[in-house]
Formats: sequence, C-alpha cells, structure tokens
Amino acid sequence: MPPIRNSATPEQLLRQDILSLHAYHVQPSPGMVKLDAMENPYLLPENIRNEIAHAVANAAINRYPDANAITLKKSIKEVSVLPPGMEVLLGNGSDEIIQLLAMAVAKPGATLISVEPSFVMYKMIATFTGINYVGVPLTDDFKLDLPAMLEAIKQHQPALIFLAHPNNPTGNLFDAAAIEKILEAANGLVVVDEAYYAFASHSFLPQLGRYDNLLVMRTFSKLGMAGLRLGFLAGSKVWLDQLEKLRLPYNVGVLTQVVAEILLKHHEVLLQQAEQIKLDRSWLFERLVGSVDVHAYPSDANFILFRLPHAAKVFEGLKQRSVLIKKLDGGHPALLDCLRVTVGTVEENALFVKALQESIHQFS
Ligand code: PMP
Repeated sequence: MPPIRNSATPEQLLRQDILSLHAYHVQPSPGMVKLDAMENPYLLPENIRNEIAHAVANAAINRYPDANAITLKKSIKEVSVLPPGMEVLLGNGSDEIIQLLAMAVAKPGATLISVEPSFVMYKMIATFTGINYVGVPLTDDFKLDLPAMLEAIKQHQPALIFLAHPNNPTGNLFDAAAIEKILEAANGLVVVDEAYYAFASHSFLPQLGRYDNLLVMRTFSKLGMAGLRLGFLAGSKVWLDQLEKLRLPYNVGVLTQVVAEILLKHHEVLLQQAEQIKLDRSWLFERLVGSVDVHAYPSDANFILFRLPHAAKVFEGLKQRSVLIKKLDGGHPALLDCLRVTVGTVEENALFVKALQESIHQFS
C-alpha cells in the first residue's frame, strides 16, 4: 500500500526561523577518549554506587515524582550555601531553565542579550521562543567589553541578559566589577550562569539579595551528574514564584531526585574530584602553553580553549587517534582556529597531549 500523503510538509508548516536553524550537534563518541563535553571523567566510589543501586531498586517509579522536589531542594540549598531567604527552581538540566526564562519574558519586541563567543544555547533559545537576540562581542582576549555592553543595554533595554561566568567556550571568569555595573545599568533580569562553579575562584551567589534583578543559575552536570540532568536557578521568591508557573510539573524525574540526593549527601566526594580536575587543568595548561604554535587561554572551568594553526586538520588528526575534543573553528569568527579540550583523567590527558603533538607534527 502506498503511504498516504495529504499533510503539509515541514517547510509549509513550520516557522521559517526554525527551518533555518542548525540542530545542536553532538559528535558520536563510542570507543573514543571523550574530552568534548565538559563531563567529570570519574566514576563514583563503590560504596556510593551501591547506595545508589539500593535507592534506585526501591524508588517508586510507578508514581510521578514529587512535583516540588522538596527534599532535593533542601539539599541543594544546604550544599550551595544560599544567602538567607533565597529560593531555588529546578530544571531538567540548566538548558531547560534558559528556555523557561526566555519563555517568561517573550513579549513582542523583547530582547535577550549575551556576549559572543559564549554558550550557543542562549541564541538558539532566543530563536525558539521568538525573542530578539543581541550578541555583544567580547574583546580580543575574551574579556567583557563593558562600554559596548552598557551601550547595548541602553539601546535594546533587554528583558534578559545571560553571562556565563566562567564563560563557555573561553573558560575565563569575567571582571566581577563589570558584571556589577551591568546589574546596575540593566532594567531587566541578569542571569549569571555558573555552570562551571565547581572549578572557579569566584561566584555571584553571595550577591543574591543585593541586586533585585540578579539570578544565579547552576548545573550539576559538570560536577559528575551530566547523565542525571539537573540544574537550578537561585534568586528571590518574588521572581521564582512567577517563573515556577512555567515549569512543567514533573520536569525532574524520580530517579534524578533519588540519585541526586545521595550524591549531594556525598558532595565532598564530588568536590574532591573537582579539585583533582583543577590540578590536572594546570598540568594540561602547561603542556599546551609549551607546545609549538599553540596559544592556550587561562581557564577557571574544567576545559581549556586553545588556538593553533590548521586547527580543523589537527582536530581530525586527534579523531583518527581516537581522541574527541570540540572543534570551535568555523562556529564563530572570533574562534577561528580554536579547539576546546575538557580536562579528563590523568591518563586521558596524557593520551590527548601525545595525540595532539603527533597531529600538530603531521600538519605542520
Ligand atoms: N550553561 C553553560 C555555560 C554551559 O556550558 C552548559 C553546558 N554546556 C549549560 C549551561 C547547560 O548545562 P546542562 O543543561 O547540562 O545543565
């Protein structure tokens, strides 16, 4: 029987801005040394894995999860040391929270401002939700261009500003005083995205409550829970009560709630892993800086951005040697010849450095 075709095609039915989008691309990685996605490379100790196995075996997956995730929120507030009176909203990863924030402000003519280069989902989600996007270029060394930001704020009166601190893919923290100036100048919400907080030497969490337009977003993905999908937004009740209305009731599943609670009970184990990653970041940075023709950018995150001649070819050379990192070259003009490597285990980092030297040699 021939298929029945009487419906509209995607081209006829869908919004032109969606048709024009490129999907967020995730590289296949089976069998590779996987250093492309800022994951924590360490598994958990045996005793914690057993505790998780027991909790999962007893989890009521026949029931919907606790829609308000009361116990998990309490644990998050405790480990994150929020200033008094601050609330949290949970997301299925922080990506979901970016989308929720954009939906919330998407009045006709609303604008979202971020910097470039930065996390690509800010721009993509502005498109999904039909709001204007303005990307203010960073300086040549990837610092905040404060005068340009203040000018853009004056001109566009953004409802929402996203600042990734540390920034992805550049790895640096922005100048805190410049962010404060932005908070003072902006009439809309300023979301400081601290996805990489566990590896960073500065946070805006203590400033919550000082600025009524400040929200701080974090994820547990980089700390060892990427597979669980859990992020949170911290801020005052005035904002979070409104934003909660947009959150889908069961966005954080039973298994995520159960497992995340156990992991947060053992938070110090994850923080120790983060400390190890910070040490290995220094080792990796020195190797990159010491490589011929490589310019590495200092990082406060669990990855390092670096620039080198023939980056696209070197990236392929690494792949041939079963090492997967992230090619940023071609993604944004400011990232010409840039690659980004996530800090892995000691062994993985050594394999990467060896494969990099070989690939550079191959293409020089
Ligand atoms: N913010 C930044 C700056 C990121 O780099 C990422 C992940 N690449 C996210 C948010 C999203 O993280 P998740 O959805 O895993 O919480």
